[in-house]
Amino acid sequence: MSIYQHFINGEWIASDKTRLNINPSNPDEVVGEYADASVQDMESAVLAAAHAAKGWSRSTPQQRFDVLDFIGTEILARRQELGLLLAREEGKVLPEAIGEVARAGFIFKFFAGEALRIGGQAIASVRPNMEVITSREAVGVVGLITPWNFPIAIPAWKAAPALACGNAVVLKPSELTPGCAWALADIISRSGLPKGAFNLVMGDGVAGKTLVEHPAVDAISFTGSTQTGKLIAQHCALSLKKYQLEMGGKNPLVILDDADLSVAVECAVNGAFFSTGQRCTASSRTIVTEQIYDSFRDAMLNRTNSLKVGAAIDPTTQIGPVVDQRQLDKNLSYIQIGKDEGGTLLTGGERLTGEGYFFSPAIIENHNPQARLNQEEVFGPVSTLVRVKNFDEALAVANATPYGLSGGICTTSLKLASQFRREMQAGMVMVNAPTAGVDYHVPFGGTKGSSFGPREQGGMALEFYTKVKTHYLA
Ligand code: NAD
Repeated sequence: MSIYQHFINGEWIASDKTRLNINPSNPDEVVGEYADASVQDMESAVLAAAHAAKGWSRSTPQQRFDVLDFIGTEILARRQELGLLLAREEGKVLPEAIGEVARAGFIFKFFAGEALRIGGQAIASVRPNMEVITSREAVGVVGLITPWNFPIAIPAWKAAPALACGNAVVLKPSELTPGCAWALADIISRSGLPKGAFNLVMGDGVAGKTLVEHPAVDAISFTGSTQTGKLIAQHCALSLKKYQLEMGGKNPLVILDDADLSVAVECAVNGAFFSTGQRCTASSRTIVTEQIYDSFRDAMLNRTNSLKVGAAIDPTTQIGPVVDQRQLDKNLSYIQIGKDEGGTLLTGGERLTGEGYFFSPAIIENHNPQARLNQEEVFGPVSTLVRVKNFDEALAVANATPYGLSGGICTTSLKLASQFRREMQAGMVMVNAPTAGVDYHVPFGGTKGSSFGPREQGGMALEFYTKVKTHYLA
């Protein structure tokens, strides 16, 4: 089997160490063997980026458009093949995996267009015979650190705006899913981007830390756990490095008495369990008012019990495996915590037989909003059911966590839906839709403990990847 290498300064570079990438649907199957970074590899990549940054920052919008449009076209053309790779390395069921690849392609296409639109403002001066204009300049070298759960979409939604703004990039993907990032680097290597402007260094948190702490890195865009995000924030604050963090969630879906029951069940089941619940926007708390509670609970249980868990590439599978043994253990330990703190396990929560890391989607009833299962991110197919009296209590419970990524409501009341949209402390709110479904061309991000810094995705993403200069012309 050939070893997939880092992409540094326009060349494929080997490391002394390698890491095997395992298929979570069948851990005996090795998906690939990938270079595993040394400190020296990261050093070379950052220096290559620093060297390339000036040249790429002077590229024309047309050059940037051409590069990004090529990358988007290639990704879209290879969506079946890359979707299969994603399903094999992460465990996402094939249709969702192909959808994620397509999302990555569309993101590059979107930011190809944005590259043509980056600009400043002309502002009237308070002084006579003076003109004031602002411009946006590239930040320089940007380190991109990504998690395993969206192994091509998240690298895309960071790399595309970074390159569109004329930055040089070092991407450090999750050690669990280097394959999709490698495939992205392979496409970028043929895009016409100057050498050194995009670098891929594969490795674990040590490689990530080396990237964060490198003095030649001007900014860090991170997506991952809150725990890692806080470490990155500490370093960036002390070194005055620009940074942006997208972290965990404990997203609520509120079901009101007047909701359409079938819509509510689909929103709850999709939001909690699709992508095996391994989405930062997954609805891991379903908060239901008391009149509809019993009928909703029965319907959600029936629908959940009908879901087929299995290998990601099996066309009949609806819920794939969790990503690895560590994540499986974490799910199981949270089921135990849920029982120990007085919750009732209504269904699932077990390791299923079979070769893969298969875990049955779990619903735990616990009406105490302060229970750990209602406060801490599990990051798996585990949802709590919480009964509340009315809308006001539902909203209060929905807001009672340290997180604020997404929040949804199922109701036929326009008035209450509007109040929820206004008062839900979250970056994204959904009405009669799952908390996890987001577009690729609009702002994405949260509040409170979920996010820090400017929004990702959509036109707003350009804010993080540029710095503003104000020009005075007398
Ligand atoms: P993680 O924090 O363990 O790892 C994320 C990345 O950080 C990986 O590339 C890892 O190698 C790297 N890393 C680890 N330690 C580091 C350090 N000290 N310095 C620098 N880099 C380091 O997270 P994960 O398990 O890969 O991902 C799951 C988490 O990601 C969940 O909490 C989920 O909610 C979150 N997530 C958030 C969003 C969002 O947009 N808000 C999207 C997807 C996932």
